[in-house]
Parts: sequence; structure tokens; C-alpha cells
Amino acid sequence: MRSLPDGSRLEIVEQESGNRTILIPRAKFESGIAPPAPAPLQGETHWFIPYTAVHPLTVAGAPKDAIWLDVSSSPVAYYGALLDIWSRGEMVAMLEHDVVCRPDIIEEFEACPEPWCCYGYSDICCQDETGHSPCMEAWRNLLGCTRFRREVIEAVPDAMTSIPEIGWDWKNVCDGLGANLRAAGFTHHWHFPAAEHHHLTDGLHGPQQLTEEALRV
Ligand SMILES: [Zn+2]
Ligand SMILES: [Zn+2]
Repeated sequence: MRSLPDGSRLEIVEQESGNRTILIPRAKFESGIAPPAPAPLQGETHWFIPYTAVHPLTVAGAPKDAIWLDVSSSPVAYYGALLDIWSRGEMVAMLEHDVVCRPDIIEEFEACPEPWCCYGYSDICCQDETGHSPCMEAWRNLLGCTRFRREVIEAVPDAMTSIPEIGWDWKNVCDGLGANLRAAGFTHHWHFPAAEHHHLTDGLHGPQQLTEEALRV
């Protein structure tokens, strides 16, 4: 086993043909912080945080009992994570790694009787001061801060397994799931105010546009 100079694990897998695959799981190393270990379940909602980077703002707002899921190994690892979550049949909430949860969000997800609930993002366009936007339906399948009651999962048990392979990429998986739930007669219920969406950009992470100068030793 080799490693990069920053300690990141570097795995070279030799294929049967003799060609090689380079694997660098990156989630644990991006900010130098590991996700917190989950506290015992606090309510009915099983919180999950799929991540490729651990962001301090997301950690700070995250439910203490959330389970962090390292999905950095593959673009379809997020799909794999949801497939597993869906098969467990528990009331679940998803928080994505660039979204900030709040205590009122945790409370509302526990209490709201609607089967499928979600918070919009703070950066959805055209929002009024309450967070409502005429454009927000374009985000109706988001999984950034979304809760499903057991009745949805029980009613559409194949909502994940029936997504065709073309929809497995992390960028598409929310729309595959959303389409299957809508086809079964479910619809999303918006909650307000919107959740902060920091896109992993605060100088710590995110689009790293390195100049040649920065790369010179
Ligand atoms: Zn609701
Ligand atoms: Zn707009």
C-alpha cells in the first residue's frame, strides 16, 4: 500500500489483463477532519449524510445521530447508499455534504405528517423573503435536506432498484427516485425557511483553481 505525501491512501490494483487501476479514496482527507461518530438515535428519523468531503459548517449543523456515508469511491456510490437505505424500510432523512441542517429542521421532519418532506436551498433563484420562489419546482426532487416516512418506502419498495443504470450517477439519482415516487402518486412537501447551501466553497474546499505559481515548489 502506497500513500500520497499528504497521507491519502493510494491503492494500485493490478487487473487480470495486466493493466492497473489507481484508487484514491479521498473523503477522509479533504479537510483533515473525520466525520463525527453518530450519537444514539434521538428520534424516529434515521439521518444519513452521504459525503465526499467533510465540511465544518455541515458538521456543525448536522443531527448528532446522523450516520455519515463515505461515497467518494465511485460516482455511483451515492446510488448504492440510497439503495441500501431504501431496503431498510426506516423513516429516513438525507442531508447532503454541502447543506447546513438546523434544530427546527430536525423537529419539523419528526413532526410533519406528510410522507415526503424537503427544504429548499438558500441559493435557489428568485426567492422572496420567506424563501418561496416561482422557480423552486425545478428542485423538487432534491435530496439535500429531505425526509421520507416509512409509508413511502413501503408503498414503493423498488423505487431505487428500478432506476435504470443511466440514472445511477450521483447527479441524476435524485431525479430517478423522485420520478418513481411521483409515478406511485406521492408528491413532495416544501418546508421553510430554506437550508443554507454552501457548495463546499468557503476557501477550505471546493473548486480548486490552482495557478502555475501555486504549484511551484
Ligand atoms: Zn412536511
Ligand atoms: Zn428564478
